[in-house]
Amino acid sequence: MSDATDLRIGHGFDVHRFSDDPARPLVLGGVVFDGEPGLEGHSDADAVAHACADALLGAVGLGDIGEHFPDSDPRWAGADSMVLLASVVALVTDAGWRVVNIDCSVVCERPRIAPRRAEMVERLSAVVGAPVGVKGNRAEKLGAIGRSEGVVVMVVALVQR
Ligand code: MG
Repeated sequence: MSDATDLRIGHGFDVHRFSDDPARPLVLGGVVFDGEPGLEGHSDADAVAHACADALLGAVGLGDIGEHFPDSDPRWAGADSMVLLASVVALVTDAGWRVVNIDCSVVCERPRIAPRRAEMVERLSAVVGAPVGVKGNRAEKLGAIGRSEGVVVMVVALVQR
């Protein structure tokens, strides 16, 4: 029987703008969206993996993703962000916590998330070792995201001691 004091919640946020480089793949939740413009970033710019990592680090009070994987470090250039997320899950586990679940909202005009949702859920859940939900939301043409200039991801994560 768990006590509420054994539970912690964390929030993660990330935003990346679309790249002008046609060779850059779009990767979200470890899934490559062929034919869609990629996102700018030091790593593979997987904003879903980044926001999940930040939510987990926040839940257990271990800082943020920029502190663990600085974008000034050439080791993380072009990095597979699902590998970074796996490293964060290991940090969480080593600190004595297990992930209960994660829920992600991906806000963008494109790509459409729904057709790839099952793959994203499967990849993320496998790496995290707990259920991960993914929801796609459009920005209704409002603001930079509504003009398809980038992708925003918001995540909550629950962990248990
Ligand atoms: Mg990021």
